[in-house]
Amino acid sequence: MFAVKIYSVPKDIEATVRTWTDIGFDTIMTGRECLADMTFLGKIHEAGMKVSLVEPVFLAPSEAEISHGATYDKALFRDGTAAVDDWVRFVCPTDEKYLSSVYERIKKDASLDVDYLTFDFARFFLFWEMVLPDTPSSALKKTCYCLRCRKAMEAHTSEAEWRMKVVTQAVSNCVAAAKSVKASLRTGVHIVPWKTDMFDGGSGGALETVLGQDLRALSEIVDFLAPMTYHHMIHQAPSYIGEVLQNHRAYIKDSIPVIPSVQVKELYRKELLSREEFREAMRTALAFSTGGLSFYQWSDIEKSPESLRIIKEELERYGR
Ligand SMILES: [Zn+2]
Repeated sequence: MFAVKIYSVPKDIEATVRTWTDIGFDTIMTGRECLADMTFLGKIHEAGMKVSLVEPVFLAPSEAEISHGATYDKALFRDGTAAVDDWVRFVCPTDEKYLSSVYERIKKDASLDVDYLTFDFARFFLFWEMVLPDTPSSALKKTCYCLRCRKAMEAHTSEAEWRMKVVTQAVSNCVAAAKSVKASLRTGVHIVPWKTDMFDGGSGGALETVLGQDLRALSEIVDFLAPMTYHHMIHQAPSYIGEVLQNHRAYIKDSIPVIPSVQVKELYRKELLSREEFREAMRTALAFSTGGLSFYQWSDIEKSPESLRIIKEELERYGR
């Protein structure tokens, strides 16, 4: 998969799709906001490209969805306050009523003209994009401590085990919902770009013990893992992308492809992501990936002819 992430329908669909196929992209990874324009999906398929739709799982519904009647229980911090950090808001992970609405939405989306569904926010609350490499694990605030979740935790041998089970079960239900409508759909899950031993508070790395992303269990459910290896955002070097990919691949014994996502432009920080560094990040991602890569995101590539040239050159160099 050589994919580009896109969050709004391009103005000139035909010209943009031509540019994508010329660069070497074979898939667009898009949010549900692009579904409104069905001619868009049609044009992508006409060009021989595939459509991968991103489905949020535990992310709280948007203001628009709430105004249309969506209700949900908020994920809570240990002190009982709602887990909110900037735009990051999560649903309580045992709010089965809300989760049922997610599975119903997935069934609807699976019936559309899409080839892949990827599950995002399939994890516990955290604004991981802002977590620096030297953050102590004790600073990562866990959720959800509502009465229902606390009871559920107590029924398990550890809080971490409960977290992993909750996320794994939800992803499993998402896949089942999608495949009940279209068995040929392929699925993936977006992974927080941490190595499994990072931010270990004594009971294991935070990817599993805080976020509940059990790569081994998830790899038995979906067709690929998609770590969001936005190295610059989390103050890491391009070589970090290789480290994450090696870690995740070894952890799941290469049982399914691990497809990284590379950030094109700086985000959440002032320092520029140079084009040399972007090229190195892309080269590293391709060297360690087992299934291609994706780019975050088209609007940043579109505005930068140099980025476009680098992507084309590096994909050609890779033999694409
Ligand atoms: Zn809860």
